[in-house]
Amino acid sequence: MVQQHARARPDLRLDSPVAAVPRVRTSETRLLSRLGVRTVRDLLLYLPADFERFDPTAIADLPASASASFVGTVVQIRAKRTRVKGMLLTEAVVADDEGSTLQVAWFNKPFVAQQLHPGDRVSLAGRVRTSRYGRQMQSPDYERVGEEGTPVRVGELMPKYRLTKGMTSPRLATLVRAVLPLAGDLEDDIPDPVRRRHGLPPLADAVRLGHQPESEEDFRRARRRFDFAALLELQAAFQLAQSRVALERATPIPYRQEVIDTLKAGLDFELTRAQRRATWDVYQDLRQSVPMNRLLNGDVGSGKTVVAAAAAAMAHAAGLQTVIMAPTEILARQHRDRLRGYLEASFPGLTVELLISGLPAAERRRVRTAAASGHCALLVGTHALIEDDVELADLGLAVVDEQHRFGTRQRELLRAKSRAGRPHFLAMTATPIPRTLALALYGEMKLSIMDELPPGRVPVETEVVAPADRESAYALVRREVRAGRQAFVICPLIEESPLVEARAATAEFERLRRDVFPDLGMALVHGRIKDKDAAMGAFRAGEADVLVATSVVEVGVDVANATVMLIEGADRFGLAQLHQLRGRVGRGAQRSYCLLLSDDPAGGALERLHLVAGTTDGFRLAEEDMKIRDVGELLGARQHGASDFAMRALQQPELLSEVRQEAEALIAEDPDLTRWPALWEAAARRLDQTSIS
Ligand code: ADP
Ligand code: MG
Repeated sequence: MVQQHARARPDLRLDSPVAAVPRVRTSETRLLSRLGVRTVRDLLLYLPADFERFDPTAIADLPASASASFVGTVVQIRAKRTRVKGMLLTEAVVADDEGSTLQVAWFNKPFVAQQLHPGDRVSLAGRVRTSRYGRQMQSPDYERVGEEGTPVRVGELMPKYRLTKGMTSPRLATLVRAVLPLAGDLEDDIPDPVRRRHGLPPLADAVRLGHQPESEEDFRRARRRFDFAALLELQAAFQLAQSRVALERATPIPYRQEVIDTLKAGLDFELTRAQRRATWDVYQDLRQSVPMNRLLNGDVGSGKTVVAAAAAAMAHAAGLQTVIMAPTEILARQHRDRLRGYLEASFPGLTVELLISGLPAAERRRVRTAAASGHCALLVGTHALIEDDVELADLGLAVVDEQHRFGTRQRELLRAKSRAGRPHFLAMTATPIPRTLALALYGEMKLSIMDELPPGRVPVETEVVAPADRESAYALVRREVRAGRQAFVICPLIEESPLVEARAATAEFERLRRDVFPDLGMALVHGRIKDKDAAMGAFRAGEADVLVATSVVEVGVDVANATVMLIEGADRFGLAQLHQLRGRVGRGAQRSYCLLLSDDPAGGALERLHLVAGTTDGFRLAEEDMKIRDVGELLGARQHGASDFAMRALQQPELLSEVRQEAEALIAEDPDLTRWPALWEAAARRLDQTSIS
């Protein structure tokens, strides 16, 4: 390992682009940038997500369901398609020196079959599972043994980096090694006293320990320091954001009892306790001359839209306009319709308008004029709100639904629609966020939690369906359709590419229409379909019995007549996503069903599905989800864009609250962090990057 002691090139600096790293390939700089690694500094700070102790075992001794590694020779390897459309399976047989063989499988990594060939010596590290096909190691890390430049790590700790297709952990480790001498130049962003108080190593040490730990304890110390720093930066950023907001002026919206009375009188239901509490929180904020900055953190179906309506009505009574931004046109339309229902009859003069890019130019012009003149009291829309140069004469309140789908800049642009001062701001979530995570992600906002569903809802009956029982799931769909209801069929999530996902959904749609439900009305919607609204609209209007869809319907779309949610490849979704999808049914008074299918769920996956079947508590599922989210590579997308450290923070609530206190103390003492410029800079960077508003 000669490179280990090599000096970095003298002209290499922390800010040098990774392209300047010795022997880095051009194609690799692209891969690195995909991982967010653009400079030498980024590379140094790109700590492994985990490490593996590499003590090769004989195949016969490999433990079941635990991580392990072995060295062997590839006997055969091939890539093939699976029954789940769009999913590629690479299967190999590997033999060890004692002559035992083991099946190995990779999902959606066709390149493995190009990189490994029969006869290759490989070391494999992963988990062995027993499925109905026998013992199998699934999606292991692999490395050709004895290859030029590849360190053979028998008995050492092998770092596991978070990777992108085409990059490997050993390769990253090699690149890091080349820049490690520069670790001493890194600016420590944890103030010394804080660092010592918490027994954390200095940054340079942590970087070395993290990339090249000699013991598990080394790695743990490095990890802890990095988590701490990331949390501290975020919490400092929240504090800075808060003090910034505190300096801003908004027009106070006085509370008027008759407004809420009128609203309630016009609704055909009673507000739940949670809705009343949240509405009250919002009203208290609106009265202030400091802009409201509140997150409505609610379970699926808890009725967040009414709370937004209540806020809009109060703003209207004060002569101010409200704008509501939703992530999709389907949802924006639904909001428009529902808000009209909640408000227009009770509040004459309170007009609700829609602005989406799918509208004819003349209609958009009309809406823009109505907004600019103040005639439109409540404007609902999509990104079009910020892309079109719509202006609101008297914007007093900005609401963002499913706020994690929008970036900071987009939310800023929305708030900037106000001609006078800052509007009050209300964010709503699609799925509940555990409180700890909300603090880690949205710590600068005040929280209202809505963990109560309107009364009278029949809980959705959720069932995990074994592959062999697929027919019974179809039979249920048929039965419900015959009873006049409708069904969703959700196709497996394919994270790598929306195009592949769309193709898979189309193929499944064709198959169902041809072989399974030739007698039923079928519709299809996926991310690549231009007019998703038309497809959804037809389904809502009852023109189709079965809607085949990708997870695009995940977002709060409401079809009261739909009673079946059949989810294919359910093990690929996160728990929170499954809960979201399930929330699409059970909106009417009839009994509804959620059927979780998966082709061949491994042990852990099955357990997770049963967790979803066992509870309707979205907060609980969200919490479980966050805990296990970084476990399997087939799990769902990161619903809230939670970074690795935020998820780890969730597992250590006490660390989070310690860090919060430190950040508060630092900023109380030194509001601009003049004494700690490195922390100030890191916090400011986070303010720009993250979902902080
Ligand atoms: P979410 O919190 O998921 O956005 P919505 O605002 O879409 O929930 O409300 C879901 C459904 O529940 C809507 O049809 C809405 O009209 C209805 N709803 C809301 N509040 C109540 C209530 N207090 N009682 C009965 N139904 C309600
Ligand atoms: Mg909603």
